[in-house]
Amino acid sequence: MNARRTTALVATASIAVLGSTALAACGSDSGSGDGGDGITVGIKFDQPGLGLKEGSKYTGFDVDVATYVAKQMGYDEDQITWKQTPSPQREQMLQAGQVDMIFATYSITDERKQKVDFAGPYFIAGQDLLVRSDDSSITGVDSLKGKKLCSVKGSTSARNVKEDVPGVNLQEYDTYSKCAEALANGAVDALTTDNTILAGYAAQPAYKGKLKVVGKTFSEEIYGVGIKKGDKDRCTKINDALKKMIDDGAWQKAVDANFGPAGFKVDTKVNPPKPGGSC
Ligand code: GLU
Repeated sequence: MNARRTTALVATASIAVLGSTALAACGSDSGSGDGGDGITVGIKFDQPGLGLKEGSKYTGFDVDVATYVAKQMGYDEDQITWKQTPSPQREQMLQAGQVDMIFATYSITDERKQKVDFAGPYFIAGQDLLVRSDDSSITGVDSLKGKKLCSVKGSTSARNVKEDVPGVNLQEYDTYSKCAEALANGAVDALTTDNTILAGYAAQPAYKGKLKVVGKTFSEEIYGVGIKKGDKDRCTKINDALKKMIDDGAWQKAVDANFGPAGFKVDTKVNPPKPGGSC
């Protein structure tokens, strides 16, 4: 990062701090509903290509899809408050009303549907493995015996390997970025989660040439938009927006812009999916 960019980031970061202080002082209540003052959207903050916070800048596919959907619901970009929704906290944050909707590599599952509703889907990924580039001993889930595997609490990634790989030495961290660090420094031998997320880490300047995606997916991860249970009206609005985004080419543009740089190849046999199944 050059000096000019660093200064710009610091400058925008302090404006963001000032901005949030001003908001807090006004007692502004975001997320009061469609057509209200604003909307609070849950994303990941540490998943490059999907949901990434750098200073006051938010980027990634989830951010772009959320921004498009919010716009269709009547919210401009400056009316969106981005909130971090780590994997173990997503259902609870929706239930508590801390966020209005979640776009955070959030797979639709029956278990989660007991607590929250999902609009979508808007993307289909698959679970894979990330290993060190010089490691040829791990070629898929079948070769994890005796290896230390890292994943995140409350994720389908952790649950799937617990079910499918008996006796696996699984370490459950809070975030995938911590797993990636542990993999790079040798504390674990592999990281497992969605191929979208893994591709993002492998392409990071810090890990480029050091980490590689194995490339053998072993699950289908159907990304939905998490919302409060029973919010049928919002569910329909989100699905209409997602359909529009796919039809008008904005979805493909977001795919290319966010996954292209990491060289991630989207599975076009299942993508784009058809939103609307769940509400
Ligand atoms: N898509 C999976 C899930 O929702 C893994 C990624 C994540 O934890 O966000 O559990």
